Amino acid sequence: MFRALVVEQVDGKSRASIQTLDEAQLPEGDVTVRVEHSTLNYKDALAITGKAPVVRKFPMVPGIDLAGTVEQSTHVSFRPGDRVLLNGFGVGETHWGGLAQRARVSGDWLLPLPEPLTSLQAMSVGTAGYTAMLCVMALERHGLTPQQGEILVTGANGGVGSFAIGILKQRGYTVVASTGRMAEAERLKRLGASEVIDRATLSEPGKPLARERWAGVVDSVGSHTLVNACASTRYGGAVAACGLAQGLDFPATVAPFILRGVSLLGVDSVYAPRALREQAWAILARDMRELIGQVAELIPLEAAIDTAGALLRGEIKGRVVVDVN
Ligand code: NDP
Repeated sequence: MFRALVVEQVDGKSRASIQTLDEAQLPEGDVTVRVEHSTLNYKDALAITGKAPVVRKFPMVPGIDLAGTVEQSTHVSFRPGDRVLLNGFGVGETHWGGLAQRARVSGDWLLPLPEPLTSLQAMSVGTAGYTAMLCVMALERHGLTPQQGEILVTGANGGVGSFAIGILKQRGYTVVASTGRMAEAERLKRLGASEVIDRATLSEPGKPLARERWAGVVDSVGSHTLVNACASTRYGGAVAACGLAQGLDFPATVAPFILRGVSLLGVDSVYAPRALREQAWAILARDMRELIGQVAELIPLEAAIDTAGALLRGEIKGRVVVDVN
């Protein structure tokens, strides 16, 4: 028997509760993992509260991230006792996820826990931190270097934003953080921002082209913020778009793309190829351990339901790690 956070649908509404389940109820998969830590990402909060149709099958154990130890495996790459990590692949959406003491998954979705990270450290990074790393890698594949100028990070106090600031700073970039919580400016500066701006300067409809400022952008917000970020990106610069905290819409003109050669780079973490995942996690494990210790708070499984609501209300700073035991 094991404990899990379960989302069910009752009279067309989502209901989340902590339940005790039998291992026989676990879904199909060739690896069973004894989960140690999971996380609460924006998507998990949507799944738990039912605020958006993230869950595709009920009942569902949410949790798009997990880290722990292999208990049973018929997969060629994993043996009992191996330390593993999982992000995405529809886990917590279409297949039972990490907010439980056990998970049964496809071994093709697992990565070995990157040395020397503990499961707590890996989950402090979680999908949000790994996505921030994918965004920075996308900008650097485009040719971005620290010498080119300031980088804008939107949604700065969130999980993706906090990690993006720390990663960029560690790699030598000058970071400008955009936030709705100016009272947290000192926290953002400690993470590595050299300037903090109010997100209200970006979140309303603006001009097709604005003053050229950013060499690059990491945007987890979407909507008018993403449009204005593109409009104020310098000639030849790039914008990595990974999120929709303000909105799914993109009410833009093509002006920045056709008149300034700005590139909009889409970033997806869920089905990112294995080689990219391994590269992102290798950099995080090698270079970002100091940052990892600064960004997360730890909560028990019982607190995950209330914390999901707080996350969607914008009350959480950085990352939330869930100790499922
Ligand atoms: P968080 O909730 O931790 O952070 C989101 C941040 O966005 C908030 O902290 C807030 O920052 C800002 N924000 C919230 N509401 C608004 C608003 N109405 N207008 C402008 N800014 C707002 O979420 P995550 O960091 O985990 O995820 C951020 C986004 O990235 C989500 O949309 C998520 O779905 C997406 N995502 C996408 C992935 C992918 O694979 N493409 C992977 C991971 C996340 P502040 O208070 O500083 O203003």
